[in-house]
Amino acid sequence: MINEINEKIIGIKDKAKLRSKEEYLNIIEKEAMGPKSKEVLKKIIEYEGWTSCGWTLFDVPPVIDRGEGAIIWDIDGNKYIDLMAGFGVESVGHANQIILDTIIEQFKRISHFAELPNELRAKLAEEVSKLAPGKKKVHFTITGSDAVENALKIARYYTSRPDILTFFGTYHGRSFGVASATSLANIKYQFWPLTARLGVIHVPYAYCYRCMFGKEYPDCNLFCAKFIEELFTSPAYTLRWSEKEINNIAAILTEPTQGAMGCVIPPKEWLSEIKKIAEEYDVLLIDDEVYGGWGRTGKWWACQHSNVNPDIMVTSKTIGSGIPFSLILTEEKIADDLPVNMIHSTMSGYHLGCAVALATIKIIRDNNLVERSAKLGEYFLKGLKDLQESHKLIGHVDGLGLWLRIELVKDRKTKEPAKEEAKNVQKRCMKSGVLFMVEGYYGNVIKIHPPLVIEKEQIDESLQTIDKELRYVEKNL
Ligand code: PMP
Repeated sequence: MINEINEKIIGIKDKAKLRSKEEYLNIIEKEAMGPKSKEVLKKIIEYEGWTSCGWTLFDVPPVIDRGEGAIIWDIDGNKYIDLMAGFGVESVGHANQIILDTIIEQFKRISHFAELPNELRAKLAEEVSKLAPGKKKVHFTITGSDAVENALKIARYYTSRPDILTFFGTYHGRSFGVASATSLANIKYQFWPLTARLGVIHVPYAYCYRCMFGKEYPDCNLFCAKFIEELFTSPAYTLRWSEKEINNIAAILTEPTQGAMGCVIPPKEWLSEIKKIAEEYDVLLIDDEVYGGWGRTGKWWACQHSNVNPDIMVTSKTIGSGIPFSLILTEEKIADDLPVNMIHSTMSGYHLGCAVALATIKIIRDNNLVERSAKLGEYFLKGLKDLQESHKLIGHVDGLGLWLRIELVKDRKTKEPAKEEAKNVQKRCMKSGVLFMVEGYYGNVIKIHPPLVIEKEQIDESLQTIDKELRYVEKNL
C-alpha cells in the first residue's frame, strides 16, 4: 500500500511499456540486421540497462560501426543513407578528415585543463559571437540539456523572476531541472514531481497542421501568439499583475522549429510575434538551437528566418561534430550582469572541444554548407511533395533547408495519425538502406535531417526507397 502511494507521488512506473529480457532477446533474434549485430545487441541486453533511447527510436536498433559523409555501415556491413545525421550531430559528414586531423593534432598538444582560459576558447567565443545576431557573449557548457538548464538559471538570475513560459511538444533535455520544460509525458511522470515544475507554464506551439485552437493559417492571424499576449494582459491568468508591477515570467523558452516532435515548422512570423510579446512584457526570449542551428535549416541560425535577435541562445550537436560540446550565447548586458563561477562543468570550454568547434565552423564556411542546406532542402522537399501526390498515407510534408517532415495519416480529412504505418515504413526503409527517425506528437512523423554534405544522388535514392516502402505498406493496409 505504502509503495503504491509512493509510486503515485514519486513517479509512475512505466510497466506497460517494459519489455522483459526474453522479449528483447526474441525480437533481436528475429529482427537484428545480421549475426554480428545480433551478438552485440544480446550483449547489450545482458550488461547494459535498456534505458537508452535507441530502443524507442527503433524496434531493434541498427548497430552502427562506421561512417563516411552521409553514408553509414552497421557491424554486419549493411550500408545506409543517414537521414538523421546521428541525431543532428554529424552535419559536416561522418569521419570528416579535417575533424579527425584536428582531434589528433589537438590531443597531441593538450585536450583539457581545468576549465581555465585558453586561446582556443577565446577564438571560438569571438567567432560564435560574430556569427550570432546582436552583441552576444559566450558561456561554455557540455551537453544540450546542460546548456538549456544554465540558460534557465541565467534568465531567472538576470530578471529575478521565477517562471518560464514554454510550449507543448517541446524538447529541451532530460536533466532534472530542464525536464520540467520538456513537454513529454514519459520524461515528466517517471520522475514526478520535478524540481522546477511549478515554475514552468506550457502553451500551444504553432503546429499549424494540427492547430490546437482548430484554426487555419493564415486566416488565424497567428491566434496562438495572440493567446500568449492575452495571458500577459489580465491578472486572472497570474503571469503578470500590471497594477502592482508584478511579472512572474523570466523568459519565453522555445525551439524555432520543434525537433523531437517531428520537425514542426511554424510560420516565419510566429517567432517575430513571440519576440514582440517578450519585449512588450519585458521578458527574455531563449532560443534553443541545440538541434536546428548551424545551417541545418538553410540559415546559420533558425531564428534568422524570422529576423529575430533572441536575448539568449543555446546550441550544441553540430558544433561538436561528434564530441560533446555546447554553449550559451547571451546579450552582452545579460552576460555582464552574471557573477563569476556561475556556470561551470569540469569539461566546459575544453581545448579539444573548442578546436573541433572552430574546425566545424570553418568546414561549414569553406564548403558553403548553409547555402547547400537551403538548396538541397528545396530539392528534397519538392521530391516529398511529389511523393505526397501518389501516397494517400502522406498527410503533410514540409521542410526548411535539410530539416524535413513527412506526417503519415490514415485519412487526410480526419488526419488520424498512422503511427504503426510510420514505424513499418521506417523498419522497411532501414532494411532497404535508408535510416531515419519516426517521432512527433503522435509518433507518426518521418523526420529527415541528413548530414549537410549529402549528395543529390543520395537524396534521389532516399526518395525512391521511401516511395517503394510506402507503396508496400499502403498495399498491405
Ligand atoms: N534542446 C533540444 C532542442 C534538443 O533537441 C535536445 C536533444 N535532442 C536537447 C536540448 C538536449 O540535448 P542533449 O541530449 O545533448 O542533452
